[in-house]
Amino acid sequence: MPHYDYLIVGSGLYGTTFAYKAKQAGKKVLVIEKRPHLGGNVYCESIEGINVHKYGAHIFHTNNKEVWDFVNSIVEFNRYTNCPVANYKGELYNLPFNMNTFNRMWPEVHTPIQAKKKIDDQRSEAVAALGGREPQNLAEQALCLVGKDIFYKLIKEYTEKQWGRSCKDLPTFIIKRLPVRMIFDNNYFNDCYQGIPIGGYNKLIEGLLEGVECKTGVNFFNSEYKDWKNYASKLVYTGALDEYFDYKLGKLDWRTVNFKTRVENTPNYQGNAVVNYTSHDELYTRVIEHKHFEMFGQEVYDCPKTVVSEEYSTEYEEGMEPYYPVNDDRNNALAKEYRKLAEKEEGVIFGGRLGQYRYFDMAPVIEQVLNIENI
Ligand code: UDP
Repeated sequence: MPHYDYLIVGSGLYGTTFAYKAKQAGKKVLVIEKRPHLGGNVYCESIEGINVHKYGAHIFHTNNKEVWDFVNSIVEFNRYTNCPVANYKGELYNLPFNMNTFNRMWPEVHTPIQAKKKIDDQRSEAVAALGGREPQNLAEQALCLVGKDIFYKLIKEYTEKQWGRSCKDLPTFIIKRLPVRMIFDNNYFNDCYQGIPIGGYNKLIEGLLEGVECKTGVNFFNSEYKDWKNYASKLVYTGALDEYFDYKLGKLDWRTVNFKTRVENTPNYQGNAVVNYTSHDELYTRVIEHKHFEMFGQEVYDCPKTVVSEEYSTEYEEGMEPYYPVNDDRNNALAKEYRKLAEKEEGVIFGGRLGQYRYFDMAPVIEQVLNIENI
């Protein structure tokens, strides 16, 4: 029986980047993955010649040149720039909140000075209500940041759909992810590097795992690998943090997303990759038109059909795929206790969104692995 330097549980970006670095360092690695395919949630399925982001839209963005150069050394990335549109009861607004949004929301606003004045006016009630203290929850934070019109049309109901909780029960930092800009700029991300792997995310995963032994359809917990010390010197675990400890401190909550994907018999369905639906009128949070991530200009029309996915955010139940850690007080406190246990696990590295119960984007996950010394 071969003895591995690392047994890696899970083939998402943490596991596959780790496998790549370990292989480069001359280590012997086995990756096991419970799904029938590799790549975790960045895995894409080809439908009508279009790469469909099966587990939700993934747009790579970073300010870290080392990370950008690293992923581009595996596969070249295109120049996709994410400019989502919000649909509130048929009114269309550019995101993130910028001069285009403000002018659409308040047609009398044409300049940054007018926008600032309008927003100050919109925020004044919420700021006064705080009486000098810091915002304590997402509702207070958003109202103090952009004021009531934007909060009620573009944030409140979308956030409630996404998280299944009142904005008053969610932490402030979720909304701090969204930039507010006094310029006409619909680029969702502030980062200087952004794009999608040319040929799709599977190319990135294939490149990272080239020459690495992988087994799909193997659930760590129901397999012989549970006794990993028989097989490897170290374990890299990227599954759910609480599951590793057999839920002994209690279960962590997750949000998950269900997708309704269909083929539309038209080359261009919504004219944009991402349209957010920000009112309760629609049960889905967003509609993704996948071809716009990788096809531009005439290419869109050269491909006669299109694939769209509606995203429904729901509470996680056993058997579903966990997506987002829930950042409320109970879960944060529980995750902290689990992380203490994780630190005491000899020879085990916990990685990724699930293994750390943290709301990471893709680039920071890769960055973490690149920063590990002596893999
Ligand atoms: N958000 C919102 N309206 C939108 C888009 C986002 O209110 O149209 C809020 C929502 O609370 C969400 C947060 O901003 O949870 C972060 O959104 P982002 O798109 O960054 O989340 P992702 O889905 O990428 O994790």
